[in-house]
Amino acid sequence: MNCWHCDRPAHGICRFCGRALCRDHVKTMPFLLEIYKGKDGDHKAIVVEDTLYCGICKPRESPVILKELE
Ligand SMILES: [Zn+2]
Ligand SMILES: [Zn+2]
Repeated sequence: MNCWHCDRPAHGICRFCGRALCRDHVKTMPFLLEIYKGKDGDHKAIVVEDTLYCGICKPRESPVILKELE
């Protein structure tokens, strides 16, 4: 697979959208892995720092609530 930006061999893949990225074009961003409700009733998030990011896609800062799934 080749880099989305420059078409050279890719070294990684954007965690958010799956685009391939070479070392020159890869960016990093915290990735929100999971949200759960703590014992005190607060919502807490597990965040992974420095996951690969393409710089093109736009991950939302807050997750979308999927009411229909419950
Ligand atoms: Zn590139
Ligand atoms: Zn992306």
